[in-house]
Amino acid sequence: MGSDAQAIIGDRLKAVRERMETACARSHRRIEDVLLLAVTKVFPASIVQDAYQLGLREFGENYVQEWEIKAPQTGPLPAAKIHLIGHLQSNKSAKACSLFDMIQTVDSVKLARRLNECNKPLDVMIELKLSTEISKYGASPDDLAEIVETVRGLSNLRLTGLMTVPEWSENPEAPRLTFQRLRELAESFGLPGLSMGMSHDLETAIEEGSTCIRIGTALFGSRKPQ
Ligand SMILES: *Cc1c(COP(=O)(O)O)cnc(C)c1O
Repeated sequence: MGSDAQAIIGDRLKAVRERMETACARSHRRIEDVLLLAVTKVFPASIVQDAYQLGLREFGENYVQEWEIKAPQTGPLPAAKIHLIGHLQSNKSAKACSLFDMIQTVDSVKLARRLNECNKPLDVMIELKLSTEISKYGASPDDLAEIVETVRGLSNLRLTGLMTVPEWSENPEAPRLTFQRLRELAESFGLPGLSMGMSHDLETAIEEGSTCIRIGTALFGSRKPQ
């Protein structure tokens, strides 16, 4: 059993785990405290199944509509958790509630209230925009206190932490200060979860306290059209 694609992903998974081990050892952390979130956006349902068969249980998708199509193709994935890591418009919140177990991209009081109306217990993170790029989503740190307070008052939402996507840079050291800032903000609100770090900067993120690295390319290869 197992396809060629699965064997390749298996090798890459080993390499990612080794990178995680090294970064954890260097920063005196336990690898069990860092979730490896497999980012399967753009890849077909078969890739999600391959990753599941290799033991991965948490998956990140960026688009509500894409996962709505892929979920039935993927079939049941017992004990799996699907995270939304892309921007969510509040008019898609009901659909997102039914499709996802965790929404990492809450960035407004309005969106939080809409998600709460779905009457389904939901884990959420607040996405912060800490870079100056105009194109990036996420709440301003100035609005964080209000959003935290709102989410904590909403009975269906369980706030687990903060998430950020730093400004793109090839240099894996470049986002270090951004990651430190996210950790300081999370600590100041007593939030344990930190979703930060992607394929090229996971070591920096783990050293700065990440509890969830979001890994696409390093597991599944390039998303660019072949
Ligand atoms: C695509 C994406 C990732 C994965 O990025 P890679 O560099 O492929 O590991 C992580 N987080 C978010 C928010 C993404 O959109």
